[in-house]
Amino acid sequence: MDLNVEGVGRILERATALEKEDPLKRDHILAKRRIALLFYESSTRTRTSFELAAKSLGADTTLVSNLSSSIEKGETLKDTGLTLRALGAEAIILRHNSSGAAWLLEESTRLPVVNAGDGMHEHPTQALLDLRTILAHLRQGATNVTPETLSGVTITIAGDILHSRVARSNMLLLPRLGAKVVLCGPKELLPEIATGAGPGIEIERDFEAAMRRSQVIMMLRIQAERLAGLQLDLQEYKASYQLTGQRLAALAPTALVLHPGPIIRGMEITAGVADGSQSCILEQVTNGVAIRMAVMERALLSTPQGARV
Ligand code: ASP
Repeated sequence: MDLNVEGVGRILERATALEKEDPLKRDHILAKRRIALLFYESSTRTRTSFELAAKSLGADTTLVSNLSSSIEKGETLKDTGLTLRALGAEAIILRHNSSGAAWLLEESTRLPVVNAGDGMHEHPTQALLDLRTILAHLRQGATNVTPETLSGVTITIAGDILHSRVARSNMLLLPRLGAKVVLCGPKELLPEIATGAGPGIEIERDFEAAMRRSQVIMMLRIQAERLAGLQLDLQEYKASYQLTGQRLAALAPTALVLHPGPIIRGMEITAGVADGSQSCILEQVTNGVAIRMAVMERALLSTPQGARV
């Protein structure tokens, strides 16, 4: 994520302003601008919210996915990008299974490219919408963030940290605003090498101990598509790391429960917790639209150097 704290504040502020804006005025902001959604991996929330956000600003969108396009015939990312540019695309929203793909596409097309998730690397708009959700509950929706805004707030991110681009973007973002991030998971999904992950970040293997000190608990799905042969004892995993109603009531009865989705009910989180009063999961989804409006506005209306997120 290339944003500094000021840049994060501007996006939060624009997200709130755009959300409040009269829809008939809002759809002039990017009227008739052409945005291509280029998705090499499946997505429900991210793809739909980028598309709805672009349309709310009046942009024309087109979806290209790895299935049913020339990508299936072996076309490279660069050639697909150049083709989209030749067709008039002015910005590309990219989800790709390789880390660094958004950077590569921006280099080869010279178009603003928004990273909608690249392999196990980053998912910046997810971290921004997570932040917006946290601020709504813990800081009355403040947008004028500083390096101290989240001082005193401990956020546990639990589960499959190793394969999670969501974890990585949150690890980059939340400590910049003063939060302490506690990573929690078994060695297979959170190797020791992650220990030096950065300032404001620590590892706690004991989920219950992490929960006890947290104001926010972010659960992650086991990324089955990226396990590459890794064997896990799922019964043992659930016994140690599943977020259950019992654990939540006993250890963190007022904590916010976040999850980027898709949730796997009965695995990392029980259905009762996902649907319970502490769950902010659907609020996160809603916040995705406002954040993505602000990010696309910035990508298309700001200078090329300021566009990348
Ligand atoms: N939706 C998130 C992502 O694309 C998290 C997940 O897939 O588990 O990274």
